[in-house]
Amino acid sequence: MSLRIVVTVKYVPDATGDRHFADDLTVDRDDVDGLLSELDEYAVEQALQISENSDDDVEITVLTVGPEDAKDALRKALSMGADKAVHVEDDDLHGTDVIGTSLVLAKAIEKAGYDLVISGLASTDGTMGVVPALLAERLGVPQVTLLSEVSVEDGKVTGRRDGDAASEQLEASLPAVVSVTDQSGEARYPSFKGIMAAKKKPVESWDLSDLDLEAGEVGLEGAWTKVESATARPARTAGTIVKDEGEGGKQLAEFLAGQKFI
Ligand SMILES: Cc1cc2nc3c(=O)[nH]c(=O)nc-3n(C[C@H](O)[C@H](O)[C@H](O)COP(=O)(O)OP(=O)(O)OC[C@H]3O[C@@H](n4cnc5c(N)ncnc54)[C@H](O)[C@@H]3O)c2cc1C
Repeated sequence: MSLRIVVTVKYVPDATGDRHFADDLTVDRDDVDGLLSELDEYAVEQALQISENSDDDVEITVLTVGPEDAKDALRKALSMGADKAVHVEDDDLHGTDVIGTSLVLAKAIEKAGYDLVISGLASTDGTMGVVPALLAERLGVPQVTLLSEVSVEDGKVTGRRDGDAASEQLEASLPAVVSVTDQSGEARYPSFKGIMAAKKKPVESWDLSDLDLEAGEVGLEGAWTKVESATARPARTAGTIVKDEGEGGKQLAEFLAGQKFI
């Protein structure tokens, strides 16, 4: 038996960097460093653990849709231990929204071949957390999302979803899409051996034509959403310091009431 796992990994702009919108109100990715979305490291980790705990042959493919530099995210996932990578890159993807991104990802997952798709719970930039559900719908397979524990056995994926009031034990037949949370287990650091091995692992590059997609189905033209305007966040103002000379508590309450916090 063999198990093919595809892990979707997003290359995101470094949140500590200075980020801007370009003139067409798309995210300006030039001059901004990027990295593998931290929450997707948990998805890679869970794929590796499923592989390590399985008697089957498990093949882990990491997949990203993104610009040239998105290869860095793939290399990191490969150095953690994934077997191979697919990078979907095309100039016509410029300005693609979440609907378009899920279309491209679904086509690439189908082309790569899969039994299980593992995603992060959300990206650290867009943070919508909707891609796994969109993928399940497009692929026509069950989705089991927000798992803090996941395992695969006898053609089924099972896992635990922790809510505020209860924990649910969930199960779906394969093929399926799951997403995992940051409670699923610390992601491992790539070892030196892993980093060296990653350099030799295969990275396939696909464009839209490889996925039988037309430019108008994605990019700004195919987007279902449009950014109408964007305003830079105002600079932080200096805080108010309340000096306690006997009336501190009162002044504090007055300040909070003035801000409508109380
Ligand atoms: C080339 C390109 C240009 C884009 N330009 C813009 C833009 O200018 N403005 C804009 O608003 N949006 C743009 N997008 C779309 C946006 O960056 C997101 O990819 C998309 O909207 C997903 O939303 P999210 O990040 O909230 O995903 P979530 O639903 O929060 O992500 C959940 C999980 O889905 C997977 N995932 C999400 N995105 C990707 C991906 N790209 N590759 C692999 N796995 C993924 C990850 O596992 C992630 O943890 C662009 C996308 C691409 C590919």
